[in-house]
Amino acid sequence: MLKALCRIKKGPKMKKELLSIIKDKERIFTENIPKKFLSDGLQREIGNASALVFVKTTAEVSQIMKYAYKKNIAVTIRGAGTNLVGSTVPTQKGIVLDLSKMNRILEIDCETLTATVEAGVLLKDLAEKVLSIGYFYPPDPGEKNSTIGGNIATNAGGMRAIKYGVTRDYVHGLEAVLADGSIINMGGKTVKDASGLSLKNLIVGSEGTLAVVTKCILKLVPKPETFKSVILPYKSLTAAIISVAKLLKADIKPTAIEFIEESVLLLGEKYSGEKFPSLKADAYLLIAFDGSLLEVNSNIEKLKNVAFNYGAKDVLPLNETDAEIVWKIRGCLVNAVEAINQQEPVDIVVPIDKTAEFVNFVHKTEANSGIKMVAFGHAGDGNVHLCVIRDKNKTKIKNVLDVLYAKAYELNGLTSGEHGIGLSKKTYFFKNTPKINLILMRNIKKAFDKKQILNKHISYLL
Ligand SMILES: Cc1cc2nc3c(=O)[nH]c(=O)nc-3n(C[C@H](O)[C@H](O)[C@H](O)COP(=O)(O)OP(=O)(O)OC[C@H]3O[C@@H](n4cnc5c(N)ncnc54)[C@H](O)[C@@H]3O)c2cc1C
Repeated sequence: MLKALCRIKKGPKMKKELLSIIKDKERIFTENIPKKFLSDGLQREIGNASALVFVKTTAEVSQIMKYAYKKNIAVTIRGAGTNLVGSTVPTQKGIVLDLSKMNRILEIDCETLTATVEAGVLLKDLAEKVLSIGYFYPPDPGEKNSTIGGNIATNAGGMRAIKYGVTRDYVHGLEAVLADGSIINMGGKTVKDASGLSLKNLIVGSEGTLAVVTKCILKLVPKPETFKSVILPYKSLTAAIISVAKLLKADIKPTAIEFIEESVLLLGEKYSGEKFPSLKADAYLLIAFDGSLLEVNSNIEKLKNVAFNYGAKDVLPLNETDAEIVWKIRGCLVNAVEAINQQEPVDIVVPIDKTAEFVNFVHKTEANSGIKMVAFGHAGDGNVHLCVIRDKNKTKIKNVLDVLYAKAYELNGLTSGEHGIGLSKKTYFFKNTPKINLILMRNIKKAFDKKQILNKHISYLL
Protein backbone atom coordinates (compact mmCIF):
# COMPACT_ATOMS: atom_id res chain seq x y z
CA MET A 1 0.00 0.00 0.00
CA LEU A 2 2.84 2.40 0.87
CA LYS A 3 4.47 1.90 -2.50
CA ALA A 4 1.17 2.71 -4.17
CA LEU A 5 1.25 6.14 -2.53
CA CYS A 6 3.89 7.26 -4.95
CA ARG A 7 2.25 5.74 -8.01
CA ILE A 8 -0.07 8.61 -8.57
CA LYS A 9 -1.66 9.92 -11.70
CA LYS A 10 0.13 12.99 -12.86
CA GLY A 11 -0.33 15.87 -15.19
CA PRO A 12 -3.43 16.39 -17.31
CA LYS A 13 -5.38 13.44 -15.91
CA MET A 14 -4.98 14.57 -12.32
CA LYS A 15 -5.79 18.14 -13.28
CA LYS A 16 -9.01 16.99 -14.92
CA GLU A 17 -9.97 14.95 -11.88
CA LEU A 18 -9.21 17.82 -9.49
CA LEU A 19 -11.12 20.23 -11.75
CA SER A 20 -14.20 18.06 -11.43
CA ILE A 21 -14.04 18.83 -7.68
CA ILE A 22 -12.79 22.44 -7.52
CA LYS A 23 -14.31 23.73 -10.78
CA ASP A 24 -11.90 26.70 -10.92
CA LYS A 25 -8.70 26.20 -12.89
CA GLU A 26 -7.12 29.26 -11.27
CA ARG A 27 -6.94 27.29 -8.01
CA ILE A 28 -5.28 24.14 -9.36
CA PHE A 29 -1.64 23.83 -10.43
CA THR A 30 -0.25 20.59 -11.78
CA GLU A 31 2.83 22.04 -13.43
CA ASN A 32 5.23 24.89 -12.73
CA ILE A 33 4.21 24.91 -9.09
CA PRO A 34 5.91 27.96 -7.54
CA LYS A 35 8.78 26.82 -5.26
CA LYS A 36 7.37 28.79 -2.36
CA PHE A 37 4.49 26.29 -2.13
CA LEU A 38 6.85 23.34 -2.03
CA SER A 39 8.77 24.62 0.96
CA ASP A 40 8.60 26.16 4.43
CA GLY A 41 9.44 29.60 5.84
CA LEU A 42 13.18 29.12 5.28
CA GLN A 43 12.75 27.99 1.65
CA ARG A 44 15.98 26.00 1.67
CA GLU A 45 14.53 22.57 1.06
CA ILE A 46 12.24 22.38 -1.92
CA GLY A 47 9.94 19.38 -2.22
CA ASN A 48 8.02 17.93 -5.11
CA ALA A 49 4.28 17.67 -5.69
CA SER A 50 1.99 16.57 -8.48
CA ALA A 51 -0.58 19.23 -7.66
CA LEU A 52 -1.15 22.36 -5.61
CA VAL A 53 -4.79 23.02 -4.78
CA PHE A 54 -6.24 26.13 -3.13
CA VAL A 55 -9.44 25.18 -1.33
CA LYS A 56 -12.19 27.61 -0.37
CA THR A 57 -14.73 25.49 1.52
CA THR A 58 -14.92 22.55 3.91
CA ALA A 59 -16.87 20.67 1.24
CA GLU A 60 -13.97 21.10 -1.19
CA VAL A 61 -11.48 19.87 1.44
CA SER A 62 -13.70 16.85 2.07
CA GLN A 63 -13.97 15.99 -1.61
CA ILE A 64 -10.25 16.40 -2.25
CA MET A 65 -9.52 14.13 0.72
CA LYS A 66 -12.04 11.54 -0.53
CA TYR A 67 -10.31 11.61 -3.90
CA ALA A 68 -6.81 11.35 -2.40
CA TYR A 69 -7.87 8.57 -0.02
CA LYS A 70 -9.42 6.51 -2.76
CA LYS A 71 -6.30 6.84 -4.92
CA ASN A 72 -3.72 6.60 -2.10
CA ILE A 73 -2.32 10.03 -2.80
CA ALA A 74 -0.17 11.71 -0.14
CA VAL A 75 -1.48 15.12 0.97
CA THR A 76 0.64 17.90 2.48
CA ILE A 77 -1.43 20.49 4.34
CA ARG A 78 -0.37 24.10 4.13
CA GLY A 79 -1.44 27.31 5.85
CA ALA A 80 0.84 30.30 5.23
CA GLY A 81 3.96 28.11 5.05
CA THR A 82 5.85 30.11 7.70
CA ASN A 83 7.07 27.13 9.74
CA LEU A 84 10.83 26.80 10.11
CA VAL A 85 11.05 23.01 10.47
CA GLY A 86 10.26 21.66 7.01
CA SER A 87 6.73 20.56 7.84
CA THR A 88 5.30 21.90 4.58
CA VAL A 89 8.01 20.43 2.34
CA PRO A 90 6.23 17.68 0.37
CA THR A 91 8.68 14.81 0.15
CA GLN A 92 6.07 12.25 -0.98
CA LYS A 93 4.89 14.14 -4.08
CA GLY A 94 1.09 14.01 -4.06
CA ILE A 95 -1.14 17.02 -3.43
CA VAL A 96 -0.30 20.21 -1.55
CA LEU A 97 -3.58 21.33 0.02
CA ASP A 98 -3.42 25.07 0.65
CA LEU A 99 -5.96 26.57 3.08
CA SER A 100 -4.89 30.22 2.83
CA LYS A 101 -8.02 31.14 0.85
CA MET A 102 -10.33 29.83 3.59
CA ASN A 103 -9.82 33.12 5.36
CA ARG A 104 -13.15 34.39 6.62
CA ILE A 105 -13.81 35.52 10.16
CA LEU A 106 -17.30 34.02 10.41
CA GLU A 107 -18.53 35.34 13.73
CA ILE A 108 -17.46 37.24 16.80
CA ASP A 109 -19.88 36.28 19.53
CA CYS A 110 -19.72 38.84 22.35
CA GLU A 111 -22.12 36.80 24.50
CA THR A 112 -19.92 33.69 24.64
CA LEU A 113 -16.61 35.57 24.10
CA THR A 114 -15.72 33.44 21.10
CA ALA A 115 -14.61 33.98 17.50
CA THR A 116 -15.49 31.43 14.82
CA VAL A 117 -13.00 31.54 11.97
CA GLU A 118 -11.90 29.54 8.96
CA ALA A 119 -8.49 27.91 9.27
CA GLY A 120 -6.78 30.20 6.75
CA VAL A 121 -7.46 33.45 8.64
CA LEU A 122 -4.16 35.18 9.41
CA LEU A 123 -3.27 35.63 13.08
CA LYS A 124 -2.68 39.36 12.51
CA ASP A 125 -6.13 39.81 10.92
CA LEU A 126 -7.91 38.07 13.78
CA ALA A 127 -5.87 39.89 16.43
CA GLU A 128 -6.54 43.31 14.83
CA LYS A 129 -10.22 42.64 14.25
CA VAL A 130 -10.98 41.60 17.82
CA LEU A 131 -8.88 44.42 19.30
CA SER A 132 -10.83 46.95 17.22
CA ILE A 133 -14.06 45.91 18.96
CA GLY A 134 -12.70 45.66 22.50
CA TYR A 135 -11.56 42.03 22.68
CA PHE A 136 -8.21 40.29 22.78
CA TYR A 137 -6.89 37.04 21.28
CA PRO A 138 -3.79 36.38 23.46
CA PRO A 139 -1.71 33.70 21.60
CA ASP A 140 1.17 35.63 20.07
CA PRO A 141 3.77 33.63 18.12
CA GLY A 142 6.41 35.84 16.52
CA GLU A 143 5.11 35.31 12.98
CA LYS A 144 1.84 37.23 12.66
CA ASN A 145 1.40 36.30 9.00
CA SER A 146 0.77 32.70 9.98
CA THR A 147 -2.71 31.18 9.77
CA ILE A 148 -4.86 30.19 12.72
CA GLY A 149 -4.97 26.64 11.27
CA GLY A 150 -1.16 26.55 11.28
CA ASN A 151 -1.07 27.96 14.83
CA ILE A 152 -3.48 25.21 15.94
CA ALA A 153 -1.56 22.49 14.12
CA THR A 154 1.68 23.57 15.84
CA ASN A 155 0.04 24.57 19.14
CA ALA A 156 1.88 27.87 18.74
CA GLY A 157 3.01 29.54 21.95
CA GLY A 158 4.81 32.87 21.75
CA MET A 159 5.60 35.77 23.99
CA ARG A 160 2.49 35.86 26.12
CA ALA A 161 2.49 32.18 27.09
CA ILE A 162 3.55 32.80 30.70
CA LYS A 163 0.42 34.81 31.43
CA TYR A 164 -2.12 33.53 28.93
CA GLY A 165 -1.02 30.03 27.92
CA VAL A 166 -0.69 28.72 24.36
CA THR A 167 -3.00 28.25 21.35
CA ARG A 168 -4.46 25.02 22.75
CA ASP A 169 -5.89 26.99 25.68
CA TYR A 170 -7.93 29.12 23.24
CA VAL A 171 -9.42 26.38 21.06
CA HIS A 172 -12.97 25.69 22.27
CA GLY A 173 -14.19 23.95 19.14
CA LEU A 174 -12.89 22.52 15.88
CA GLU A 175 -14.26 21.40 12.56
CA ALA A 176 -11.85 19.11 10.73
CA VAL A 177 -11.73 16.80 7.74
CA LEU A 178 -10.27 13.34 8.20
CA ALA A 179 -8.02 11.58 5.70
CA ASP A 180 -11.00 9.70 4.21
CA GLY A 181 -12.94 12.94 3.71
CA SER A 182 -15.30 12.62 6.72
CA ILE A 183 -16.11 15.94 8.38
CA ILE A 184 -15.97 15.94 12.19
CA ASN A 185 -16.92 18.54 14.79
CA MET A 186 -15.39 18.67 18.26
CA GLY A 187 -16.14 20.88 21.25
CA GLY A 188 -18.11 24.07 20.63
CA LYS A 189 -18.79 27.37 22.36
CA THR A 190 -18.78 25.80 25.82
CA VAL A 191 -16.00 26.74 28.21
CA LYS A 192 -15.75 23.23 29.64
CA ASP A 193 -15.71 19.82 27.97
CA ALA A 194 -15.37 16.58 29.89
CA SER A 195 -17.27 14.57 27.33
CA GLY A 196 -15.09 11.61 26.52
CA LEU A 197 -11.63 11.55 25.01
CA SER A 198 -10.60 14.94 23.68
CA LEU A 199 -10.18 14.40 19.94
CA LYS A 200 -9.86 18.17 19.65
CA ASN A 201 -6.78 18.16 21.85
CA LEU A 202 -5.22 15.34 19.85
CA ILE A 203 -5.56 17.41 16.68
CA VAL A 204 -4.17 20.58 18.28
CA GLY A 205 -0.37 20.30 17.95
CA SER A 206 -0.51 17.27 15.63
CA GLU A 207 1.26 19.15 12.80
CA GLY A 208 -1.37 18.13 10.27
CA THR A 209 -0.74 14.42 10.72
CA LEU A 210 -4.26 13.58 11.97
CA ALA A 211 -6.76 15.84 10.18
CA VAL A 212 -7.21 19.02 8.15
CA VAL A 213 -8.51 21.78 10.43
CA THR A 214 -11.11 23.76 8.49
CA LYS A 215 -12.89 25.86 11.10
CA CYS A 216 -12.37 26.74 14.75
CA ILE A 217 -14.13 28.37 17.65
CA LEU A 218 -11.62 30.39 19.63
CA LYS A 219 -11.82 31.88 23.09
CA LEU A 220 -11.45 35.65 23.40
CA VAL A 221 -10.85 37.77 26.49
CA PRO A 222 -11.73 41.41 27.09
CA LYS A 223 -9.10 43.82 25.77
CA PRO A 224 -6.77 44.81 28.62
CA GLU A 225 -7.08 48.48 29.55
CA THR A 226 -3.37 49.11 29.15
CA PHE A 227 -0.14 47.57 27.84
CA LYS A 228 3.26 48.64 29.19
CA SER A 229 6.83 47.43 28.74
CA VAL A 230 9.99 47.74 30.81
CA ILE A 231 13.66 47.05 30.01
CA LEU A 232 16.07 45.67 32.59
CA PRO A 233 19.79 45.79 31.71
CA TYR A 234 22.17 43.21 33.27
CA LYS A 235 25.92 42.72 33.38
CA SER A 236 25.61 39.31 31.71
CA LEU A 237 23.05 37.03 30.11
CA THR A 238 23.47 34.54 32.94
CA ALA A 239 22.66 37.25 35.50
CA ALA A 240 19.58 38.20 33.48
CA ILE A 241 18.28 34.66 33.17
CA ILE A 242 18.99 33.75 36.78
CA SER A 243 16.86 36.69 37.90
CA VAL A 244 13.80 35.49 35.91
CA ALA A 245 12.67 32.75 38.30
CA LYS A 246 13.10 35.18 41.21
CA LEU A 247 11.04 37.85 39.48
CA LEU A 248 8.30 35.33 38.76
CA LYS A 249 8.29 34.25 42.41
CA ALA A 250 7.89 37.91 43.40
CA ASP A 251 4.50 37.69 41.67
CA ILE A 252 5.01 40.62 39.29
CA LYS A 253 2.48 39.03 36.87
CA PRO A 254 4.25 39.74 33.56
CA THR A 255 2.61 39.10 30.19
CA ALA A 256 5.99 38.30 28.64
CA ILE A 257 9.64 38.07 29.66
CA GLU A 258 12.16 37.86 26.84
CA PHE A 259 15.95 37.70 27.14
CA ILE A 260 18.27 39.22 24.59
CA GLU A 261 22.03 39.78 24.44
CA GLU A 262 23.57 43.01 23.25
CA SER A 263 25.27 41.33 20.28
CA VAL A 264 21.91 39.92 19.15
CA LEU A 265 20.27 43.28 19.70
CA LEU A 266 22.73 44.88 17.29
CA LEU A 267 21.69 42.37 14.60
CA GLY A 268 18.04 43.25 15.24
CA GLU A 269 18.75 46.98 15.06
CA LYS A 270 20.56 46.60 11.76
CA TYR A 271 17.81 44.48 10.23
CA SER A 272 14.87 46.57 11.43
CA GLY A 273 16.50 49.97 10.96
CA GLU A 274 15.30 50.86 14.46
CA LYS A 275 17.37 52.03 17.42
CA PHE A 276 17.04 50.30 20.79
CA PRO A 277 15.99 53.17 23.09
CA SER A 278 18.92 53.09 25.47
CA LEU A 279 22.02 51.98 26.99
CA LYS A 280 24.96 49.76 27.15
CA ALA A 281 24.77 46.40 28.88
CA ASP A 282 25.67 42.87 27.94
CA ALA A 283 22.14 41.57 28.23
CA TYR A 284 18.56 42.68 28.78
CA LEU A 285 15.22 41.39 29.92
CA LEU A 286 12.22 42.86 28.11
CA ILE A 287 9.18 42.58 30.31
CA ALA A 288 5.62 43.30 29.18
CA PHE A 289 2.59 43.89 31.37
CA ASP A 290 -1.08 44.24 30.57
CA GLY A 291 -4.30 44.65 32.52
CA SER A 292 -6.01 47.55 34.26
CA LEU A 293 -3.87 50.68 34.66
CA LEU A 294 -3.90 50.26 38.41
CA GLU A 295 -2.83 46.64 38.24
CA VAL A 296 -0.07 47.27 35.66
CA ASN A 297 1.38 50.23 37.57
CA SER A 298 1.33 48.27 40.80
CA ASN A 299 3.14 45.33 39.16
CA ILE A 300 5.78 47.66 37.70
CA GLU A 301 6.28 49.17 41.19
CA LYS A 302 6.68 45.65 42.58
CA LEU A 303 9.25 44.96 39.86
CA LYS A 304 11.18 48.14 40.74
CA ASN A 305 11.27 47.04 44.37
CA VAL A 306 12.82 43.66 43.71
CA ALA A 307 14.75 43.88 40.42
CA PHE A 308 17.90 45.55 41.83
CA ASN A 309 18.19 42.81 44.47
CA TYR A 310 18.18 40.26 41.68
CA GLY A 311 20.99 41.77 39.61
CA ALA A 312 19.27 44.30 37.34
CA LYS A 313 21.37 47.44 36.75
CA ASP A 314 18.29 49.56 36.11
CA VAL A 315 14.53 49.41 35.56
CA LEU A 316 13.45 51.46 32.55
CA PRO A 317 9.72 51.82 31.78
CA LEU A 318 9.15 52.56 28.08
CA ASN A 319 6.78 55.03 26.48
CA GLU A 320 4.45 53.71 23.78
CA THR A 321 6.73 54.58 20.84
CA ASP A 322 9.84 53.05 22.42
CA ALA A 323 7.91 49.94 23.45
CA GLU A 324 6.80 49.49 19.86
CA ILE A 325 10.41 49.81 18.66
CA VAL A 326 11.72 47.35 21.24
CA TRP A 327 9.14 44.68 20.37
CA LYS A 328 9.70 45.27 16.67
CA ILE A 329 13.42 44.59 17.17
CA ARG A 330 12.67 41.49 19.27
CA GLY A 331 10.15 40.29 16.67
CA CYS A 332 12.60 40.43 13.76
CA LEU A 333 15.47 38.47 15.33
CA VAL A 334 14.96 35.18 13.43
CA ASN A 335 14.87 37.09 10.14
CA ALA A 336 17.80 39.29 11.21
CA VAL A 337 20.00 36.24 11.78
CA GLU A 338 18.78 34.53 8.61
CA ALA A 339 19.56 37.68 6.58
CA ILE A 340 23.23 37.35 7.51
CA ASN A 341 23.70 33.64 7.42
CA GLN A 342 21.75 30.46 6.94
CA GLN A 343 20.90 28.98 10.28
CA GLU A 344 19.49 25.88 11.87
CA PRO A 345 16.60 26.97 14.09
CA VAL A 346 16.35 25.20 17.45
CA ASP A 347 13.60 25.84 20.00
CA ILE A 348 14.54 23.56 22.84
CA VAL A 349 12.55 24.07 26.03
CA VAL A 350 13.95 23.37 29.50
CA PRO A 351 12.46 23.82 32.98
CA ILE A 352 12.68 27.53 33.85
CA ASP A 353 15.23 26.94 36.62
CA LYS A 354 17.55 25.29 34.06
CA THR A 355 17.46 28.05 31.43
CA ALA A 356 20.68 29.72 32.62
CA GLU A 357 22.54 26.38 32.76
CA PHE A 358 21.40 25.54 29.23
CA VAL A 359 22.34 28.95 27.82
CA ASN A 360 25.77 28.74 29.50
CA PHE A 361 26.22 25.34 27.92
CA VAL A 362 25.35 26.85 24.54
CA HIS A 363 28.06 29.48 25.01
CA LYS A 364 30.63 26.86 26.00
CA THR A 365 29.71 24.70 23.02
CA GLU A 366 30.03 27.72 20.77
CA ALA A 367 33.53 28.43 22.11
CA ASN A 368 34.65 24.79 21.85
CA SER A 369 33.23 24.08 18.40
CA GLY A 370 33.80 27.38 16.65
CA ILE A 371 30.19 27.18 15.38
CA LYS A 372 28.43 30.50 15.90
CA MET A 373 25.14 30.41 17.79
CA VAL A 374 22.69 33.18 18.46
CA ALA A 375 20.43 32.68 21.46
CA PHE A 376 17.35 34.63 22.50
CA GLY A 377 13.96 33.65 23.70
CA HIS A 378 11.07 33.34 26.03
CA ALA A 379 12.88 33.55 29.37
CA GLY A 380 9.63 33.26 31.28
CA ASP A 381 8.98 29.73 30.07
CA GLY A 382 12.45 28.26 29.40
CA ASN A 383 12.01 28.21 25.62
CA VAL A 384 15.42 29.01 24.17
CA HIS A 385 15.45 30.08 20.54
CA LEU A 386 18.79 29.21 19.16
CA CYS A 387 20.01 29.99 15.67
CA VAL A 388 22.92 27.64 14.96
CA ILE A 389 24.74 29.28 12.09
CA ARG A 390 25.29 26.81 9.28
CA ASP A 391 28.81 25.75 8.44
CA LYS A 392 30.16 24.05 5.32
CA ASN A 393 31.22 21.20 7.55
CA LYS A 394 27.90 19.39 8.02
CA THR A 395 29.36 16.82 10.43
CA LYS A 396 30.46 19.64 12.72
CA ILE A 397 26.94 21.09 12.76
CA LYS A 398 25.42 17.68 13.40
CA ASN A 399 27.82 17.05 16.27
CA VAL A 400 26.97 20.42 17.81
CA LEU A 401 23.23 19.75 17.52
CA ASP A 402 23.69 16.26 19.02
CA VAL A 403 25.48 17.75 22.01
CA LEU A 404 22.87 20.51 22.51
CA TYR A 405 19.90 18.15 22.39
CA ALA A 406 21.67 15.69 24.72
CA LYS A 407 22.23 18.49 27.23
CA ALA A 408 18.61 19.60 26.98
CA TYR A 409 17.38 16.05 27.70
CA GLU A 410 19.82 15.76 30.62
CA LEU A 411 18.15 18.89 32.06
CA ASN A 412 14.70 17.29 31.55
CA GLY A 413 14.03 19.51 28.57
CA LEU A 414 12.12 18.70 25.38
CA THR A 415 12.90 18.75 21.66
CA SER A 416 10.54 21.59 20.79
CA GLY A 417 8.71 24.17 22.88
CA GLU A 418 6.58 25.58 20.10
CA HIS A 419 7.81 25.22 16.51
CA GLY A 420 7.10 21.49 16.31
CA ILE A 421 9.07 18.52 15.01
CA GLY A 422 8.51 18.79 11.24
CA LEU A 423 11.22 17.20 9.16
CA SER A 424 14.22 18.80 10.78
CA LYS A 425 13.89 17.49 14.34
CA LYS A 426 12.56 14.02 13.66
CA THR A 427 15.85 12.29 14.56
CA TYR A 428 16.03 13.96 17.97
CA PHE A 429 12.32 13.44 18.66
CA PHE A 430 12.53 9.71 17.93
CA LYS A 431 15.68 9.33 20.00
CA ASN A 432 14.24 11.05 23.03
CA THR A 433 10.63 9.87 23.03
CA PRO A 434 9.95 6.71 25.03
CA LYS A 435 9.05 3.71 22.84
CA ILE A 436 5.69 3.23 24.49
CA ASN A 437 4.75 6.86 23.73
CA LEU A 438 5.76 6.38 20.09
CA ILE A 439 3.66 3.22 19.84
CA LEU A 440 0.63 5.09 21.20
CA MET A 441 1.21 7.96 18.78
CA ARG A 442 1.45 5.51 15.88
CA ASN A 443 -1.78 3.82 16.90
CA ILE A 444 -3.54 7.18 17.14
CA LYS A 445 -2.25 8.09 13.69
CA LYS A 446 -3.62 4.81 12.33
CA ALA A 447 -7.00 5.39 13.97
CA PHE A 448 -7.32 8.79 12.27
CA ASP A 449 -5.63 7.98 8.98
CA LYS A 450 -5.54 4.27 8.17
CA LYS A 451 -3.80 4.74 4.82
CA GLN A 452 -1.34 7.28 6.22
CA ILE A 453 -1.78 9.85 3.51
CA LEU A 454 -1.91 13.04 5.63
CA ASN A 455 1.43 14.79 6.08
CA LYS A 456 3.07 11.43 5.62
CA HIS A 457 6.49 13.14 5.35
CA ILE A 458 6.38 14.07 9.04
CA SER A 459 4.10 11.32 10.24
CA TYR A 460 4.87 9.37 13.38
CA LEU A 461 4.87 6.18 11.34
CA LEU A 462 8.17 6.81 9.64
C1 LIG B 1 9.90 34.73 12.51
C2 LIG B 1 9.13 33.63 13.19
C3 LIG B 1 8.88 33.71 14.54
C4 LIG B 1 8.16 32.70 15.17
N1 LIG B 1 7.94 32.81 16.50
C5 LIG B 1 7.19 31.88 17.12
C6 LIG B 1 6.89 32.00 18.50
O1 LIG B 1 7.29 32.94 19.17
N2 LIG B 1 6.12 31.03 19.04
C7 LIG B 1 5.64 29.96 18.31
O2 LIG B 1 4.92 29.12 18.86
N3 LIG B 1 5.93 29.83 17.02
C8 LIG B 1 6.67 30.76 16.41
N4 LIG B 1 6.94 30.63 15.09
C9 LIG B 1 6.37 29.47 14.37
C10 LIG B 1 4.96 29.81 13.94
O3 LIG B 1 4.10 29.64 15.04
C11 LIG B 1 4.52 28.87 12.84
O4 LIG B 1 5.35 29.15 11.73
C12 LIG B 1 3.06 29.09 12.46
O5 LIG B 1 2.20 28.81 13.54
C13 LIG B 1 2.66 28.19 11.30
O6 LIG B 1 1.49 28.71 10.71
P1 LIG B 1 1.33 28.64 9.13
O7 LIG B 1 -0.03 29.08 8.77
O8 LIG B 1 2.43 29.33 8.44
O9 LIG B 1 1.43 27.07 8.95
P2 LIG B 1 2.35 26.27 7.92
O10 LIG B 1 3.75 26.68 8.07
O11 LIG B 1 1.75 26.34 6.58
O12 LIG B 1 2.16 24.79 8.49
C14 LIG B 1 2.72 24.44 9.73
C15 LIG B 1 2.23 23.01 10.09
O13 LIG B 1 0.83 23.04 10.31
C16 LIG B 1 0.14 22.19 9.39
N5 LIG B 1 -1.09 22.90 9.04
C17 LIG B 1 -1.22 24.16 8.56
N6 LIG B 1 -2.52 24.47 8.41
C18 LIG B 1 -3.22 23.39 8.82
C19 LIG B 1 -4.61 23.08 8.90
N7 LIG B 1 -5.53 23.97 8.54
N8 LIG B 1 -4.98 21.86 9.35
C20 LIG B 1 -4.06 20.94 9.73
N9 LIG B 1 -2.73 21.17 9.67
C21 LIG B 1 -2.32 22.38 9.22
C22 LIG B 1 1.10 22.01 8.23
O14 LIG B 1 0.88 20.80 7.56
C23 LIG B 1 2.43 22.01 8.96
O15 LIG B 1 2.66 20.76 9.54
C24 LIG B 1 7.66 31.60 14.43
C25 LIG B 1 7.90 31.52 13.06
C26 LIG B 1 8.64 32.51 12.43
C27 LIG B 1 8.88 32.41 10.97
